[in-house]
Amino acid sequence: MEQTEAGWHLDAGDWWNRMRSEKRTTLEMLGWRGEFAAYFKNLNRPDLIPARISVQFRTSYRILTTGGEIPAEVTGRFINPIHPGVELPKVGDWVGVQIFEQEQKAIIHELLPRSSKISRKVPDRKTEEQIMAANIDEIFIVHGLDLPVNLNRMERFQSLVSGSGASPVYVFNKSDLLGDTDLIKEEMRSGTPVLIVSAKKPDGLDSLKEFIKPCRTYAFIGASGVGKSTIINSLVGEEIFRTNEVRSSDGRGRHTTSHRELVMMPGGGLLIDTPGMREMQVWDSGAPLADAFADIFEYSESCRFSDCRHTTEKDCGVKKAVEEGRLEKARYEHFLKLEKELSYLRSRQDQWSRMEQKRRDKILHRAIKRYYKDK
Ligand code: GDP
Repeated sequence: MEQTEAGWHLDAGDWWNRMRSEKRTTLEMLGWRGEFAAYFKNLNRPDLIPARISVQFRTSYRILTTGGEIPAEVTGRFINPIHPGVELPKVGDWVGVQIFEQEQKAIIHELLPRSSKISRKVPDRKTEEQIMAANIDEIFIVHGLDLPVNLNRMERFQSLVSGSGASPVYVFNKSDLLGDTDLIKEEMRSGTPVLIVSAKKPDGLDSLKEFIKPCRTYAFIGASGVGKSTIINSLVGEEIFRTNEVRSSDGRGRHTTSHRELVMMPGGGLLIDTPGMREMQVWDSGAPLADAFADIFEYSESCRFSDCRHTTEKDCGVKKAVEEGRLEKARYEHFLKLEKELSYLRSRQDQWSRMEQKRRDKILHRAIKRYYKDK
C-alpha cells in the first residue's frame, strides 16, 4: 500500500479495484489516520490491506474498506488458547486483511492498536472487561429533558467515557418539553461541550449535525428512553441498526446485510452503535475518576497521608473541603461510592485473571500431553 495525492493505493487485484472505483470511498472517509498508517507501514505486509470492522459476530465479521463491505474471518491465531494475549477485533477496529477475490471475502491477520476503547463488565463474569467498540473519537452522553438532570448519572457516564480514550459530549434531548434551556448550560459548566437538541422538532438536531465532522467516529450512550434510537434514526435516515435479523450461519457471516454496527452518516461522520453499548456499567480502565472528580483530586493534595481514603483519616483535605462548604456533601458521598465500587472491581479483576490463567494452563498441559501420547 502506498499513499498518493489521490489517496491510498491498494494493490489487491482487479475485482477489488473495480469495487473501489465504483464506491469512491477513501480510507480517510472511514476514519483512517496517520497513526494507523504508520503502524500499518511498519508491519511490512504488502499482502494485506487496511479495513475497518463494521459488524462482529463471535469470530465472523463484516469489514469496510475502500471497495465496500465484505465478510471476513480471523486467522486461527486470534482464537487459539495457546496465544493468551491475542485479542479479537471489535467493531470500529482497524485490521490488516488479505482479500480472497474468488470467494469475495477476507481473512483478518493483524489488529492495529486502538486510539480508544469503550468497555463494560461481562454480565455473567462480573469483572471481565468486554470491549464494546474501538477507535471512537467522541461519545455523546444523552440525557432526556423530560426528567430532572441526574448529575450523578452524568458523572458516571463521563468517567466511563474519559477512561475510554474518547472525548465526552453532553447531549440534552427533548428540549421541546422544556422552556428555558439556558439553565442547563449554566449548570453544566464542566468544560465538556453541551448540545441541546430535540429529535422531535423539524430543525431540532441542527446543532448536533453541525458538531459531527467527516472522517471522525461517534457513538451514543445514555439511559434507556432518553431518545438515542430516535436521534440515530434521524441522523442516519433509516433504521439500519436493527439487531434482530440474524440468520443461521452460512459460512460467510451470520448477519443479514441490513444489520450494521458502524455506518457512514450522510454528512460524512461515522457512527458506531453496538447492542452492548446501550446498557453499560462503570469499568475501571486507568484513572477515569480523576477526570470526573478533578476538584476532589485537587483537595486531596493537602491530605496528610498520600494513601488517604478520605474517610476516617486525620487531616484529610477532602473532608476539610466538605466541612468548610467548598465541596458538596452529596458529591463527596457519590465519589466515595464510586471509589468503593472500583476497588471492588479491581480486586475481582485480579481474581478473575488468576482463574483465567489457570484455565489456559490446563488447556496447554492437556495439548502437550496429547502431543506426546500421539507420538
Ligand atoms: P432510547 O431508549 O434512548 O433509544 O430512546 P428512544 O429513541 O426509544 O425514545 C424514547 C421515547 O422518547 C420515544 O417515545 C420517543 O418518541 C421519545 N423521544 C425521543 N426524542 C424525543 C424528543 O426530542 N422530544 C420528545 N418529546 N420525545 C422524544
